[in-house]
Amino acid sequence: MIVTILGSGGGTGIPNPFCQCPTCETARQHGGRDRRNAPAVLINDDLLIDCGPDVINSARQLGLSLASLQALVITHRHSDHLDPWFFRSRRSVKNTELPLLTVYGPRDALDSVFDFYARTFGWNRPMLEQETRTIWHPVESGSRKLIGRYRLQFFPATHGDAMLQAVLVGVRDAQAGYFHCYDSGPLTEEAWAMLSDQRFDAAAIDATIGRQDDFASTEHMTAAQAIETAQRLREMGILAPEGYALATHFVHQDAGSHEEKAAFYAPQGMTPAYDGLRLTLGEGAETPPEEIDSAEDWEASGMQE
Ligand SMILES: [Zn+2]
Ligand SMILES: [Zn+2]
Ligand SMILES: [Zn+2]
Repeated sequence: MIVTILGSGGGTGIPNPFCQCPTCETARQHGGRDRRNAPAVLINDDLLIDCGPDVINSARQLGLSLASLQALVITHRHSDHLDPWFFRSRRSVKNTELPLLTVYGPRDALDSVFDFYARTFGWNRPMLEQETRTIWHPVESGSRKLIGRYRLQFFPATHGDAMLQAVLVGVRDAQAGYFHCYDSGPLTEEAWAMLSDQRFDAAAIDATIGRQDDFASTEHMTAAQAIETAQRLREMGILAPEGYALATHFVHQDAGSHEEKAAFYAPQGMTPAYDGLRLTLGEGAETPPEEIDSAEDWEASGMQE
């Protein structure tokens, strides 16, 4: 299984073009790992998790094709995770026979896409499915889905409320497992109980709040909470001892460059995700993790923990 981080930022990403804070100014100057697009993760070349406003651009920047996509998981309908225009881009391709794309997401996320196409193009759901070669399935915490070579299992996120449903997802293929834990506060005991029989080779964990003292939220994690989550995943055997624990969903309000984050997280057995990071999990994992757009190796970011 190859896991590619298309976006390691949250909210407006880094830099926010309207912002002149030191983190945004540094990211504009340095680019590279300090620049973070909105959240999205690609599994192999055919399963995408989230389709926010940057995903098309992330694929373009990283030289990745999305023409083989067969499944999409939308974790929730916040705008950094779901841009309804994403589906419209599938319509205008030439000389490409796109496979049918099966879309999973909470009911309200799917409804927001249906509403958008009804208002913008006058398309009802069958027209949307036909025009964009998609088929839509609502999921909720506890749902299990088989799609192609994947087993998807959905867990409750500590994110959203009665008005907004959010899920976490575990992805397994014959080789390995990946736990997508973007956009959640500390996991509930219900989530831990559901996760207890799972085994993953990598987990990407919300660390949005980072080390801000003045940012109160129960819907995202501080750096300390992300570290605690990673430790408990390992202790319970949910994350393999040698598995990767990534901190992710960084926002510009949590100051600091990628290098500073790497130095902070490395002693905790975690590494900050960055756009273009690619993990090879399971069989073939003796191939060292690589990235697409740079020759720097993993030791530099503390991944050998
Ligand atoms: Zn988010
Ligand atoms: Zn800023
Ligand atoms: Zn969110």
